Amino acid sequence: MQQAQYQLIIVGGGPAGLTAGMYAARGRLKALLVEKGATGGQVLVTDWVDNYPGFVEGISGFDLMDKMTAHADRFGLEKKFATIASLDLLGDIKTVTLEGGEALTAKTVILCTGAKPRKLDIPGEHEFAARGVSYCATCDGPFYRNQEIAVVGGGNTAIQDALHLTKFASKVTVIHRRGELRATKILQEKAFCNQKIDFLWNTQVREIRGGTGGVDSLLLRHHNGDESILAVSGIFILIGIVPNTDMLPVDHLHTDASGFVVTDQEMATSIPGVFVAGDLRSKRSRQIINAAGEGAVAELAVEHYLGNQAPDQPLNCSE
Ligand SMILES: Cc1cc2nc3c(=O)[nH]c(=O)nc-3n(C[C@H](O)[C@H](O)[C@H](O)COP(=O)(O)OP(=O)(O)OC[C@H]3O[C@@H](n4cnc5c(N)ncnc54)[C@H](O)[C@@H]3O)c2cc1C
Repeated sequence: MQQAQYQLIIVGGGPAGLTAGMYAARGRLKALLVEKGATGGQVLVTDWVDNYPGFVEGISGFDLMDKMTAHADRFGLEKKFATIASLDLLGDIKTVTLEGGEALTAKTVILCTGAKPRKLDIPGEHEFAARGVSYCATCDGPFYRNQEIAVVGGGNTAIQDALHLTKFASKVTVIHRRGELRATKILQEKAFCNQKIDFLWNTQVREIRGGTGGVDSLLLRHHNGDESILAVSGIFILIGIVPNTDMLPVDHLHTDASGFVVTDQEMATSIPGVFVAGDLRSKRSRQIINAAGEGAVAELAVEHYLGNQAPDQPLNCSE
């Protein structure tokens, strides 16, 4: 029978993947983490994390992920920085093929590929990306000091980030396609009381316009069909996130209506030996703490799945 090179391959090196990797390396599994960019995931673009337990004064996203990476490295987690060309996850032996052709095999896989911001898909969005179009208030807010900007969206992220952006911008116009916000009441109250925030209800952005200097205005359509122009130098599109499912066998995985992968409480998917942790999972809240927690749960479920096999790596008495 074919032998797998690894007991576990983890795909994605954000909080979920790094925590699964740390548990696996500490648990002496022969494990590999494959990351297509730098380890850290979405947290790398998070300016300041104020809600990760243990960091009483908060910590920068970069420093938090540096520590998570170092923690996994301390136990000797093997990592590969590569883009995945294909995944064959259906058999007992899973095959992860990298761009360039290298094929890696494992008995189990934890998918931790996370999610990315949803786009409006309107004219000008792609053209002015990073020249006035942003999906990350914490990353790009400081570029808009004393300027007038817009936020698109009505959920928690949009309103929280609109409030954050008032630290920099002279005016923030929240453009929402509905007549009321979905954000929590406490955020709504803060936003309604903020003198720098204006609201445009039942309004959609039809086009992002500008020139060589970047964005200068938005073409808006209101619920009665009227159109108007809003002069802004930046637009933050904060309308939710979509799962990173490229290369995943989505036809064989049970997913929800938005494409996030459904798992059981042990993070097991509908494919035996394939687990999912973090933002890629179907769930209500997407935070660093639950991504990390699910990474731990998934790795422990992998150990159970593997039947508590004898460790492949020698004992390291220095730890
Ligand atoms: C702007 C912003 C601010 C946030 N602020 C906070 C906060 O203050 N507190 C909080 O708790 N949460 C915050 N979050 C949410 C938090 O960042 C996420 O919940 C968390 O990062 C999810 O972790 P993850 O490991 O599931 O996925 P991600 O962080 O998305 O990591 C996924 C990783 O997988 C890699 N990857 C994707 N596809 C592949 C592939 N095919 N092959 C190899 N690698 C792949 C990616 O490169 C990435 O490194 C914020 C998110 C954003 C966008």
